[in-house]
Amino acid sequence: SESTLVLIKPDGVRRNLIGEIIRRCEAKGYVVAELKKITPTRELLAAHYAEHEGKVFYEPLMEFMLSGDVVAIRLTGHRVIEGFRSIAGATDPTVAAAGTIRGDLSRDWGTKVVQNLVHGSDSVESAQRELALWF
Ligand code: ATP
Repeated sequence: SESTLVLIKPDGVRRNLIGEIIRRCEAKGYVVAELKKITPTRELLAAHYAEHEGKVFYEPLMEFMLSGDVVAIRLTGHRVIEGFRSIAGATDPTVAAAGTIRGDLSRDWGTKVVQNLVHGSDSVESAQRELALWF
């Protein structure tokens, strides 16, 4: 079945939310097919976030993602790409709906880049590309 790349970003790892985030994925019915905790290199992150190069939040985003360990997960299930983005909630945690990972567990801390706990691939093509980078 379909796979997506989920990243638990450094804020999620620092706040000991790995279990809570995985719990929500599993409770929804998705399966953790592969899982690893890594210290990403700048090269890996540059490839992952290539589409954002040149944007105002690019450097703060890179600094943030380099600030600690990240957990990478290959999550599987029917329509998991769309489904994970639904349980993650909106990019801006201030307005992410209650009941979502970002809405329930994060907020705006006044940092240059929004710290929103998780990443999830946004299409079949990006899922394939990103999974090849991280696994
Ligand atoms: P992700 O790709 O991490 O799942 P997303 O798809 O909701 O999040 P993207 O547009 O891909 O968001 O942006 C990647 C990340 O860059 C966001 O998750 C957030 O951490 C940061 N970001 C995006 N837009 C902004 C912005 N306007 N200001 C500050 N940070 C931003």
